[in-house]
Amino acid sequence: MRVHIVPCGDKYARKHHAKTIEKLVPREEIILFENEKQLTSTLKDDAYACWGVTNAKNNSNFKNWQTMQKDDICIMYRNKTFFSCGKITAKFKNKEFSEYLWGSKEDGQLWENMFLIDEIKEINVSIEVLKKVMGYKEKFFIQGYTTFDNESSEKIVAAFQIPFFEKSFNNTALKVEIERREKMWMEIQKIQNIRPLTAEEVRSTGCYGSARGIWRDIKNTSDITPSGKGVCVGISSRGKYEDDFGEETGTHDYPKTEMRGQDSADIESLRSAMQLKLPIFLIRNANEKGELINSGKRRKVDKVFVLYDSPEDNSIVITFSEGGKDDYEIPIEEEDSFQERETSIKTTKSKKRSQEVFRKKLIKRFGPKHCVVCDALPEVIEAAHIRPVKDNGGDQSGNGIWLCKNHHSLFDLNKWSIDPKYLEIIPNNQSSLNSLQIMRSNIRHLKYPPSKKALEWRWKKFNKDQDLN
Ligand SMILES: [Zn+2]
Repeated sequence: MRVHIVPCGDKYARKHHAKTIEKLVPREEIILFENEKQLTSTLKDDAYACWGVTNAKNNSNFKNWQTMQKDDICIMYRNKTFFSCGKITAKFKNKEFSEYLWGSKEDGQLWENMFLIDEIKEINVSIEVLKKVMGYKEKFFIQGYTTFDNESSEKIVAAFQIPFFEKSFNNTALKVEIERREKMWMEIQKIQNIRPLTAEEVRSTGCYGSARGIWRDIKNTSDITPSGKGVCVGISSRGKYEDDFGEETGTHDYPKTEMRGQDSADIESLRSAMQLKLPIFLIRNANEKGELINSGKRRKVDKVFVLYDSPEDNSIVITFSEGGKDDYEIPIEEEDSFQERETSIKTTKSKKRSQEVFRKKLIKRFGPKHCVVCDALPEVIEAAHIRPVKDNGGDQSGNGIWLCKNHHSLFDLNKWSIDPKYLEIIPNNQSSLNSLQIMRSNIRHLKYPPSKKALEWRWKKFNKDQDLN
């Protein structure tokens, strides 16, 4: 699967977008113009979104377009934002049809390298996300129609949290698998209610059967996914000390073995489990009583869901929550957006929040944990909300900042704050930067500072608090 980015900002593109994306092109018209008559049987819908690119200088667009295949993903871009995505249904080269739909460019070029897009969905992702995930320089910009190879495309789809395209999975096979996992879980619980499972029982129930850390069960799950890589069934966290599980959520690191092809297939299978909202089984070591221990002969099995994928730090977040991903609010966020939690609850009907996911988003935005005002060790760094959750602050990365425990407490006690305009660190009337052990005078060293709106809210509260004292 490849990602194709289509800039949609210039005067032509805006017109085309209104004419053949917002309004669809009827199936009859497409078939009428199509010269090879191959599409007649494949096009099922009454109308399709349609786009075309010129050959461009040195045929650069044409060469990119040649790599396009059915089920690739097309992403529309304008004003530094990726605003919609869809699935490629078909492509064809057709001068007459493109001229009929869009005319020609001033220099006579035609948008003759055409394609049809289906299942168009709105997204809202800043160009900064692409820069970060691809490691591009600050000054990078989208110059024209752009395509990415398979590996980069996977990364982009994950980072953009491209909504799941229902048609690409096999729903019949999926239904069978949902039932199979339900039965498996019942079988596991039957034993686990009395005593912890043995390693043999873990294998015989089918919830785990690999030595790789991730069990995809190709035989039973490959039919579900178009790639044939399958959907993760179980993950083993036995003796994996990087994994970190709390009461409700936890992180699990991506596999990293000598077999890189296997690793990437395993990671893809975790993403599929997330998209399909299929439960997976978490296997950990236990003692005879069923208590978790570092190494033991017995196994504790939990039913969990993949909640969030974090390619930036090579891990996923899982949740033990019965409702899975649906219980959490994970909006496709624009990095700089700042939405009150109250309003986001209304739009997404969210019930829970995950500090773990919030932390992942801060890694995406700010990089590794580092207190913004001192040099404290990573072990004591926390993900702080600028507008607190109790005051309806949301979990967008723009509402967060890395702070050590000390500076987090002092921040919440209003001993210091950040001036939203110049990003200066301002101590309260009774304190000084020195007395607060703050080593910086501003946070302008951050490549992407927190959301201005969040800082403004906090600044207002800080000043109000000062007036009261
Ligand atoms: Zn600090």
